[in-house]
Amino acid sequence: MIYPIVVYGHPVLRKVAADIEKDYPGLERLIPDLFETMYKSEGLGLAAPQIGKSIRIFVIDGKPAAEDEPSLADFKKAFINPHITEKSGDLVPMTEGCLSIPGLREEVNRESHIRITYYDENWNWHDEEYDGYTARIIQHEYDHLDGIMFTDKVNPLRRRLLKSKLMAISKGKFEAEYRTILPGQKIK
Ligand SMILES: [Zn+2]
Repeated sequence: MIYPIVVYGHPVLRKVAADIEKDYPGLERLIPDLFETMYKSEGLGLAAPQIGKSIRIFVIDGKPAAEDEPSLADFKKAFINPHITEKSGDLVPMTEGCLSIPGLREEVNRESHIRITYYDENWNWHDEEYDGYTARIIQHEYDHLDGIMFTDKVNPLRRRLLKSKLMAISKGKFEAEYRTILPGQKIK
């Protein structure tokens, strides 16, 4: 099933998402649905709050970014109950976008190295370290679980200039090739 994507300004994107139990209802279906929704909207990653579910899950398929980072060619993973336990390295700037903020791209600084624990879709526990572009994508998706949007991390001067653009997006003034849910609309 392909879900509509929740757009900037909707309160579900600002909640801190909750860990889930292994027997979370519909979990088996939810993971492939997240992937399917992500592929449909041509994202590199998608977090559960972006389809209106305030739970700690995100999925990533880095294939489209393999040109920039070859190791992403085979990077397809679901992260359940992820927790970043370490961030280190230099702050590196790079332009990011987000399916929940259609049409807006801005430079964001992120740490180059992370350590993260999580369960995969077979409920195997992992404790892994990532660098570079992979670490960036993971941090972007992970932030969604803590109610953080990438625009929060843009430098303050630039962020002030973004205010009216974000306001327009939250009112539906954007073009997107996928279905969306605006703030104020009900999530089913
Ligand atoms: Zn995002």
